[in-house]
Amino acid sequence: MDDIFTQCREGNAVAVRLWLDNTENDLNQGDDHGFSPLHWACREGRSSVVDMLIMRGARINVMNRGDDTPLHLAASHGHQDIVGKLIQCKADTNAANEHGNTPMHYACFWGQDKVAEDLVTNGAQVSICNKYGETPLDKGKPHLRELLREKAEKLGQNMVKIPFKDTFWKGTTRTRPRNGTLNKHAGVDFKQLHLVAKLNENQSGELWQGRWQGNEIVVKVLKVRDWTTRKSRDFNEEYPKLRIFSHPNVLPMVGACQSPPAPHPIIITHWMPYGSLYNVLHEGTNFVVDQTQAVKFALDIACGMGFLHTLDPMIPRHFLNSKSVMIDEDMTARISMADVKFSFQCPGRMYSPAWVAPEALQKKPEDINRRSADMWSFAILLWELVTREVPICGPVQHGNRHEGFLGGFEAHYPPRHLTTHLQAHEDLHE
Ligand code: ATP
Ligand code: MN
Repeated sequence: MDDIFTQCREGNAVAVRLWLDNTENDLNQGDDHGFSPLHWACREGRSSVVDMLIMRGARINVMNRGDDTPLHLAASHGHQDIVGKLIQCKADTNAANEHGNTPMHYACFWGQDKVAEDLVTNGAQVSICNKYGETPLDKGKPHLRELLREKAEKLGQNMVKIPFKDTFWKGTTRTRPRNGTLNKHAGVDFKQLHLVAKLNENQSGELWQGRWQGNEIVVKVLKVRDWTTRKSRDFNEEYPKLRIFSHPNVLPMVGACQSPPAPHPIIITHWMPYGSLYNVLHEGTNFVVDQTQAVKFALDIACGMGFLHTLDPMIPRHFLNSKSVMIDEDMTARISMADVKFSFQCPGRMYSPAWVAPEALQKKPEDINRRSADMWSFAILLWELVTREVPICGPVQHGNRHEGFLGGFEAHYPPRHLTTHLQAHEDLHE
């Protein structure tokens, strides 16, 4: 079978859909030239493939080796409908590639009049210089130049040349496609892991930072009492389901192995420079979460959870909370599959109950309405994003003590901070 890049280039919608349905496939991976599947579909005008890729979470402002975005390619080749779709999805109309050329430069150079007009209507500058001091207008034929100049002036554009600036991108998220080789290594040879520094040790195991196959990774060595063949078999059955590469807001478990000599199950995930959302919100890492960023995090999480809810069966023992949401280098929030619990990890124990819906604390896992319970957890996350406070479980105040699943843990809902916050809110309106 042809690879995904060829399928997208040729517009084989059925094959692309099949490929996308396999969660082990990463649609944001790049080929040898850093072209993502979206680059190819946009270049060749494959509208239905473009729709599918965008719906499944393809990154819009992704760059190939030459810093071209999909919009550069769609504009060069005059695919007006695709240019429209990309703009609707907030593609940056003034993105500069390695030459400083924007999609507008190419639309003008290749005489794509219709596309050039649409770009101007959507904020593309006609006087922005590339690295050689040329504007899009310089690149166009006289009639197009006239038309665009008129249009831009009507829209209030300043016609003075804008000098080339390396930093012009500030504010939009540019991303590179990922290295696609990673998800071909489900089974991992423990000897190839280079563990560099221990980051943490807790009840569930040790966390190490390291390198593997040229990638920055994090390794969790799970602490499990009585490692039986049964548990080993469960591990081998459960971890492949966590290798979800197909959504940008899900952080896959990259691989796993069982380490010699004493067998410990080991899981591998990508190193996330900012740590978890919890770290970012409550432990004062070095970037400020303003309101726009908070909304972006919330949207990212909603997209990731929306995707997880389409899986049938759903991933068991996944609990949404800010400790299990990781922040990628481009500030994307991603739901960590490495924080999903295995069946043998202290069944009946709940680590972060403050985010868990009351019904999920009371019922057996198989009786829980997962989608509703996740909505509760999401609401706590929203509250956390707005207030910057840590949701906590205080002592039980109304005598509802849950045995069994919680193992006698006492919790009360909503978290104390949430109740006081809501009360404060009510006081305000009285
Ligand atoms: P649990 O054992 O239930 O997963 P935890 O998530 O608090 O609990 P660890 O998984 O050991 O404990 O994580 C400890 C810290 O390491 C987290 O607070 C987070 O900041 C950091 N960390 C975890 N995973 C990553 C990662 N993939 N990249 C970077 N930092 C991470
Ligand atoms: Mn963790």
